[in-house]
Amino acid sequence: MAGKLDGKVAIITGSSSGIGEATAIALAAEGAQVAIAARRAERLEALAKRIEASGGKALPIVTDVTDETQANNLVQKTNEELGRVDILVNNAGVALTGNIDGGNTADWRRMFDVNVLGVLYTTHAVLPILKAQQSGHIVNISSVAGRIARAGVGIYNATKWGVNAFSEALRQEMLKDNIRVTIIEPGLVDTEINNHITDPVAKQISEERRKSITPLQSEDIAAAIIYAVTQPQHVNVNEILIRPTQQER
Ligand code: NDP
Repeated sequence: MAGKLDGKVAIITGSSSGIGEATAIALAAEGAQVAIAARRAERLEALAKRIEASGGKALPIVTDVTDETQANNLVQKTNEELGRVDILVNNAGVALTGNIDGGNTADWRRMFDVNVLGVLYTTHAVLPILKAQQSGHIVNISSVAGRIARAGVGIYNATKWGVNAFSEALRQEMLKDNIRVTIIEPGLVDTEINNHITDPVAKQISEERRKSITPLQSEDIAAAIIYAVTQPQHVNVNEILIRPTQQER
């Protein structure tokens, strides 16, 4: 059966778990060849096998997006091995929440490195390819936290605010080259993201918040991404804010 993305090539960062993994599966199911990137090699290999068993094509590329050289390598290797790049999903991210007052500055640096600089590096690397093609789509995974600030989440808020500002400026710069930019802003999604929180109090607050409602699943976000990237070329879905029905803010 023909897929809506047959012949297209997509890069998905942070595809070893959660939203990135579900997005890679969904893009491949629509016919895109997918370059899957994250640091955990064995999880990428397992995902590639799963996609290929369903008739898709997946290229695992171990990448730490906070390292500009590795981010460049991800884009160049995809272009060399799969022949082009049409879609970049900047999904890799961490949410190391905790109060600003007395906060862990190593966590702050890590969030800015992954959530902001990681997005900038891969985008910088892919733009020459998209410009040469005069087409392409960059999807940046932000968050409800990119639109609504909350006590205890301030630095994560700042990183996702940064993603939104960057994405809008990028959209304006690149529209003359037929390059689309979409911001996806999920609310609570049931993934392993909380497991990485280092502050025990923040971790407990986050877990309780998540348990108090029925969260989104990664596949719900993947479906929103598929919607955005399968619109006709003249349609740029700029922003999708998607919350669980029971999430208030
Ligand atoms: P997960 O923790 O399941 O996934 C995060 C992914 O990012 C993993 O694949 C991880 O892979 C990767 N990653 C982390 N650091 C790096 C790095 N330095 N280089 C490359 N990859 C890295 O969480 P989610 O799926 O929930 O998160 C995906 C995105 O969605 C994030 O940007 C997050 O901010 C956003 N989001 C999540 C929400 C939620 O409630 N879950 C809500 C709103 C937004 P590895 O460790 O193998 O490198």
